Amino acid sequence: MVKVEKDLKVIPNSLQDADCKHNLIIILAAGNGEAINDKIYKGIKNNTNSDGFGDVQQALKDLYRNKCAYCESPEFNPQIEHYRPKKGLMTKNSALKWKKVETHKGYYWLCYDWSNLVPSCASCNGIGRGKDVKFPLLNESKRIFKPTVDNNAIALNEIEKPYLLHPEIDEPKNFFRFDDKGNIFGTDTAGRGEMTIEICWLRANETLRFNRKDQVFDYYTDALIAALNLSDVVAKQGLIKKIIEKLYRDLHNPEKSFRLYRWYFYTHFKEFLAISLLPQPEIDFILGIYEEVYEENSEAK
Ligand SMILES: [Zn+2]
Repeated sequence: MVKVEKDLKVIPNSLQDADCKHNLIIILAAGNGEAINDKIYKGIKNNTNSDGFGDVQQALKDLYRNKCAYCESPEFNPQIEHYRPKKGLMTKNSALKWKKVETHKGYYWLCYDWSNLVPSCASCNGIGRGKDVKFPLLNESKRIFKPTVDNNAIALNEIEKPYLLHPEIDEPKNFFRFDDKGNIFGTDTAGRGEMTIEICWLRANETLRFNRKDQVFDYYTDALIAALNLSDVVAKQGLIKKIIEKLYRDLHNPEKSFRLYRWYFYTHFKEFLAISLLPQPEIDFILGIYEEVYEENSEAK
């Protein structure tokens, strides 16, 4: 997960046209999500573009650069995921098992709310191992059951304090760490990072772990190891510098997948190198160049 800036004032038309407003009135009057029309948020009623994407889906694709909001995997046809579940929800009971909250109808009033919609891959949003309708709170007694005056996700998160991180509200850098195998772990004491991992199946998903390792840790370390084989010291130094500079550029490039892992690798470069099997003189050689790149980039900022 990586932080994304969404302008809540620039709302796709499907979420504010007359049909949407009319349907929402019916939903609010009923007090449940039975009348929710997925064609409205999917934007396929009358706003589908030439590529077959509704305006909401296209806006989310643009904002998240065709990536899943939760796992950062490439996703060109994302599901429109409701951060707060629109029909029913599950939390963890005292036995630490996921359980439906029978008294809650879901956050039906947020079904067309722009701040509640994020793009997701099928794995993160999946029924069972994925998010499904899981939405636990740090304190269940703060749970909101009915529409409030201020419905946007920022205001609601202030009150409810959900476990699940929101990429447009929270700074994921404060909640996660990674290892050299591509595993992800939560780091905050409240347990929001770890619970987000569990909700979206971000660690036990072997394909996801493999892709992270392959595209981040292996990608840069393989390149560094290959560079070490150059016999010409100046050429070797130049190439290693280029690789580390590329890592820095990639972690800032919104088109790239797994940017949080790239950031973590760059900022914890020393620790990652220390656990590599490289001989100490080679580690020192690479670290010398890393320090140089790090200095240059902190000056540039
Ligand atoms: Zn995902």
